[in-house]
Amino acid sequence: MLYQSTRNSVDKITSANAIVKGISNDGGLFVPEKMPQVSLEEIKQLSDMSYRERAKKIIGLFLTDFTAEDIDYCVDNAYTAKKFETDDIAPVHFLNDTTNILELWHGPTCAFKDMALQILPYFMTTSIKKCNIDKKVVILVATSGDTGKAALEGFADVEGTGIIVFFPEDGVSNIQKLQMLTQEGENVGVASVFGNFDDAQTGVKKIFGDKEYNKILEENNIMLSSANSINWGRLLPQIVYYFSAYADMVKAGKISNGDKINVCVPTGNFGNILAGYYAKNMGLPVHKFICASNCNNVLTDFINTGVYNKNRQFNTTISPSMDILISSNLERLLYDVTKDETAVEGWMKKLFTQGEYEVDNATKEVIKNNFFGGYCDDASTKETIGKVWNENKYLMDTHTAVAYNVYMQYVEKTGDKTPTVIASTASPYKFNEAVLSALSPETSFDGIDVFELVDMLNVKTGLKVPASLAELKEKKVRFDYKCEKEDMSKLVSQILKIK
Ligand SMILES: *Cc1c(COP(=O)(O)O)cnc(C)c1O
Repeated sequence: MLYQSTRNSVDKITSANAIVKGISNDGGLFVPEKMPQVSLEEIKQLSDMSYRERAKKIIGLFLTDFTAEDIDYCVDNAYTAKKFETDDIAPVHFLNDTTNILELWHGPTCAFKDMALQILPYFMTTSIKKCNIDKKVVILVATSGDTGKAALEGFADVEGTGIIVFFPEDGVSNIQKLQMLTQEGENVGVASVFGNFDDAQTGVKKIFGDKEYNKILEENNIMLSSANSINWGRLLPQIVYYFSAYADMVKAGKISNGDKINVCVPTGNFGNILAGYYAKNMGLPVHKFICASNCNNVLTDFINTGVYNKNRQFNTTISPSMDILISSNLERLLYDVTKDETAVEGWMKKLFTQGEYEVDNATKEVIKNNFFGGYCDDASTKETIGKVWNENKYLMDTHTAVAYNVYMQYVEKTGDKTPTVIASTASPYKFNEAVLSALSPETSFDGIDVFELVDMLNVKTGLKVPASLAELKEKKVRFDYKCEKEDMSKLVSQILKIK
């Protein structure tokens, strides 16, 4: 299995190469040259496997330049009972006959990013060896909150690597900020950027594309790589849990093997939902993908009209990990649908220069057939959290609630009763202030210390506080870097101690 850029179908590289590089030199994203197929018989076999065994099976289909021992090493070290609070790793909560919640937040940072970022460092170090690289690989991350912490946790003190995370100064929750600023490890750096997530992401992409700066890094024996979902090593582990959820539903008798399901995902950078779409291309029986956005509803409009237009107001919401106007992984979807690198490159150039592009009718059609797009504002998000708690005693975080709300809109519009998997992407404790105010709309939680909020949510719901959040109280803040978006490379040099 080889990989190519979404902007060049001629040059092919190995998976190890694609993982180390992160993003293609032409600005495109790496995609597998074809999708491996998984038969219904093989899906049935997954039902009797542990999460680790399922992961080995799916990941092995893509990383054909890794040996079976390499893959065992990566999977067995990433998905351990020590790092995840449940040995199921990604359990499905059966809420009712049609609604099934895939809980992806039992990892060390309480968000679904752990599913990929716990294994990426093992992919990365294995790939570095395979590519005979003797440089230090420095991971640059732009984060809307969850990726940053999960990447720091995954890469901390991993030999031969360094990691620097940029987050928007006013765009992350208190818990997220504390989680990052208290990160331990000798090879980590954390800085905030004056701006929003898109500013941080654009700044990081600029550093990747800055030939002169990369030369300076090279002279210092450093190369850059990415842990954002533009890296193939981020997307691949996310394909696994869609198969896993399906296998769990078959096992529990919720569906028969071969039955179609819907998949509903709270979406930002389009990585998570794209992994589900790839699973469908591999043979997972999926009817519709429900793409849920918050008020930054650029994807809702795109799915409904075929016009992608980022020229609009950027909203800061209570689901900050979805406050994104440039969904990077859409490029991979467009390539998969069109197989036309020239068209994809043209659209991406237009997005860069004009902030807008429109896809052709055939592409619109395929996207409409596969995806339903909807969005939900902060008030409805809170209402949804309150409603599901009152009716089912099931507590959702703000992102998952956006997905649940949009799923309800979908059911109302279509009457579709297909069993649906909702990707639950964060622990409610991570967004405790919004969740508390959803449960007690009359009360103000303004200005209350975050740890007190954690305790209040615990008292109110009786749900266990994740160990990593409980421990946060004792941790020291280690970083105080802040910078303008123009000065991000300067800060990288400062953190890496190069002139
Ligand atoms: C990152 C994130 C999302 C968005 O996922 P994408 O892959 O960027 O679409 C949704 N919810 C939470 C909690 C996240 O951390």
